[in-house]
Amino acid sequence: KVLMVVIKEVVYVLGILFFSMNRNKVPHMRLEGKVAIITGAASGIGEAAAKLFVENGAFVVVADIQEELGLKVVASIAGPDVDRAIYKKCDVTVEKQVEETVALAIEKYGTLDILFSNAGILGPMDSILDMDMEDSFDRTMAVNLRGPALCIKHAARAMVKRQVRGSIICTASVASVLGGVVPIAYTTSKHGLVGMVRAAASELGKHGIRVNCVSPYFVATPLAISGMSAMGINNASGIEALASSSANLKGVALKAKHVAETALFLASDESSIYVSGHNLVIGGGFTVVANVN
Ligand code: NAD
Repeated sequence: KVLMVVIKEVVYVLGILFFSMNRNKVPHMRLEGKVAIITGAASGIGEAAAKLFVENGAFVVVADIQEELGLKVVASIAGPDVDRAIYKKCDVTVEKQVEETVALAIEKYGTLDILFSNAGILGPMDSILDMDMEDSFDRTMAVNLRGPALCIKHAARAMVKRQVRGSIICTASVASVLGGVVPIAYTTSKHGLVGMVRAAASELGKHGIRVNCVSPYFVATPLAISGMSAMGINNASGIEALASSSANLKGVALKAKHVAETALFLASDESSIYVSGHNLVIGGGFTVVANVN
């Protein structure tokens, strides 16, 4: 009898310990056990999101055309738990590859809770007056609009089939609400992406699937650096100096991890009640204040 009482006490104390340890863990593991596909995850914002999502307990498919970099990202974030992330070569403009990426997530991790459709290109820094319709317009539309359309289509099909109340997030840009910041094809594609997000949110709401987008200001990633090289700016500090000179919010530089944190909010249960159809601009006020200072 005494032994039974001691065992009960020990079990009780262990239970309290386990509960308090897990309670402390909750704020840090905001995607515990969730399965995510992140496109454009070999670099920049997608890479930062892959790292942050895994740190928050998610299983991540790193989808990108850059195989070597994608594998490096997986190796750097998965750590000893090699199953946490996997690389999948995926050109988002090719439907078969997008389908295969979704199938891989299901096969490897059993479900799909989150799509972060983030892959994008800036395209040539040209003007409407000399725009090349194939290399500039069609290519930009293919990656920045056809890509997200394919990703949303196949991710949502997987979610609906499994009755997953999933979260879909797309990366647009401050150029989704403003003209004249970057080239016309890019601006057009990002405005279009906001329309796609709203239409998809409308269609998928009945399945409990939320669709939102994040719209960052300049971030010093390879995309931004390649775009500014024509202006003689070819490193991160040059981009940040340029961004700071036209920013509204001074004294802070927007980094890829800040955009990833916003995507994490939209992916997590913190936004699961009713946050859908939004274009969450991460612009420090750039898109809503007059530039008079
Ligand atoms: P990045 O160049 O660091 O990353 C983009 C990734 O997308 C690369 O890894 C690239 O290989 C991948 N990619 C390109 N085409 C692809 C395709 N067809 N299929 C699959 N992957 C492809 O640039 P980033 O700044 O991290 O860009 C991520 C997203 O952020 C893009 O949609 C971009 O338009 C958007 N964005 C960037 C900025 C910025 O200033 N960097 C600002 C606003 C929005």
